[in-house]
Amino acid sequence: MGSPLSLSLSWKAIDTFELKPTLWLRYVDDTFVIWTDRYLHALPNHHPSQKRGVISALTERARRICEPEHLERELKYLKVTLRSNGYNASEIRKAMKPKNITVRKAKKDQMVARAYLPFIPRVTDRIGKLLDKHDIETVFKPTRKIQQSLRSAKDKRDPLSVAGVYRKPCTCGKVYIGTTKRSMGTRLKEHKRNCRLGQADKSAVAEHALSEGDHIILFENTELIAPNHGYHSRLVREVIEIHKHTENFNSEEGEVYLNRIWNPILRNSRITNRMTTGSKIVNVPGSSAGTSTGTNTTDYLTRHKYALRSLKVSQRTASHDG
Ligand SMILES: [Zn+2]
Repeated sequence: MGSPLSLSLSWKAIDTFELKPTLWLRYVDDTFVIWTDRYLHALPNHHPSQKRGVISALTERARRICEPEHLERELKYLKVTLRSNGYNASEIRKAMKPKNITVRKAKKDQMVARAYLPFIPRVTDRIGKLLDKHDIETVFKPTRKIQQSLRSAKDKRDPLSVAGVYRKPCTCGKVYIGTTKRSMGTRLKEHKRNCRLGQADKSAVAEHALSEGDHIILFENTELIAPNHGYHSRLVREVIEIHKHTENFNSEEGEVYLNRIWNPILRNSRITNRMTTGSKIVNVPGSSAGTSTGTNTTDYLTRHKYALRSLKVSQRTASHDG
């Protein structure tokens, strides 16, 4: 963990932990620790195969390292240690059995793909069994790590200094979804200038502001929807947000083509703009788009390789900002 907090946290953890390591060496953010007889406990929410792996790895290590006359004593000691880490006798006995590596390697070789799933007992382990029947290997990951429970130690950046996808509301209730690879503040200034100079041909924002009706662009309420995640992901995110914000005044549907296959998901996360007294955009109850950081569905869609595969980048240049 490269966070400035890591030193304080690691000392705090060592201080409060009832078992002390035998050896603890640290250099900047690298540590070398020797714990005695403390391994992944049988209780944590890890896939059984990962727990079996702890037992079999320790057993295998003992078999490889120990002299034959000491092996039995070492395995006996290992069993006592594993029992103190919460494993029962049956689990230990099964996992300690010598494995047929050839059979396991042959099975691994015939796998056609690999799936990464969070381990949720009685849900994803069942999915894993189904995938196994179709020769898809499943790698189970813990659902939450300690780092995810801690807030970032870095100072919050000014949203205007960030590149990404943003939305600008108008007093008529519609919004403009835009994207920029530069800072949002720079793009904001350009839109303001276009409006001031009446350059309707240069920006859709100016075009809307100058169109018939009572339109005042609420520049001060511009919100960053998603920080920049690179060129393609930013364009994908823009087109997704345009689909989600049904009441928008964008002149076109983004720079990339979004396959219709995603419509049912996007339909469920649509946002209707309603003006409040403060002219802020509010999300309709039931809408899954809650905060300016976006939804899980959208993040998934933005990162998912199949979503990206279904996209065709238009001929417009990479430097264009919306
Ligand atoms: Zn308007």
